[in-house]
Amino acid sequence: MSVLYDASKCTACQACSVACKQWNTLPAEKTTFTSSYQTHDQLTPKTWTFISFDEVYENNKMQWLFRKEQCMHCGEAACLQACNHDAISHNELGFVVIDHNKCIGCGFCVTNCTFHVPRVDPITHKSYKCTGCPDRVGNGLAPACVQTCQPEALVYGKREDIMALAEARFKALQPLYPKANLYSAPNLQGINFTYILLREPKFYGLPDEPHVPVSVHAWKQVLRPFGEIAIAGALLTTAISFIKTRKKDDEKSTGKSRDQGVGKNG
Ligand code: SF4
Ligand code: SF4
Ligand code: SF4
Repeated sequence: MSVLYDASKCTACQACSVACKQWNTLPAEKTTFTSSYQTHDQLTPKTWTFISFDEVYENNKMQWLFRKEQCMHCGEAACLQACNHDAISHNELGFVVIDHNKCIGCGFCVTNCTFHVPRVDPITHKSYKCTGCPDRVGNGLAPACVQTCQPEALVYGKREDIMALAEARFKALQPLYPKANLYSAPNLQGINFTYILLREPKFYGLPDEPHVPVSVHAWKQVLRPFGEIAIAGALLTTAISFIKTRKKDDEKSTGKSRDQGVGKNG
């Protein structure tokens, strides 16, 4: 399943951000205006989505660019690959979720995420981000943020339907916004939050060609399996050494008692 965020329809009302907090019982946080109408300006362990406001000036004209920020639920997820405790997985609907029983708050997902999304709570020592609302979508409902969006800037549905809708809307938008961008990250085997943007990704602080960092691939495919083999080898060597030492000790003590026994009887 997938979500489409269409920046051409978003009014930046931030109802999605409020709905996310309400549904997921996330407390309000004290914020300050950083620029324009920007209050929340970053994700936190208790703020899983917000609207970024960017003002772009060109030819003495200002263009306001809005973007709903949250986990992109990548098909190939760097956070999942970087996690050494197998705490991150795709659920049956394709959303990327964190198992807090396994998460130790090491922060590898934070530093390796393609979009710098998860945040570790310094009190609980667990990593948090948008979950895709599994308790809603698992019961046939749209995610809370989508449900609340009045101008249909957010739409939820089957991946193929969402992609068809995204392409149709993108095509219709191009005469008015020739620099619009359909942001779907094929290098990550797609993302489950597809964006229609009014400008190129860099204007929204997004990478042009998002991908899993090379270091994460190396860790997952080479170093980690090699490390596991090395640990298994070290454990095996220790076990063999222990058995050998034990055997020698047994032989020594058996020989000694036999000697003692011989002396007694003789
Ligand atoms: S609820 Fe919809 S229109 Fe309002 S900020 Fe969120 S995405 Fe934009
Ligand atoms: S956006 Fe980051 S946290 Fe979300 S699935 Fe992709 S890599 Fe993981
Ligand atoms: S899908 Fe759910 S958890 Fe994610 S931003 Fe929307 S309301 Fe929040």
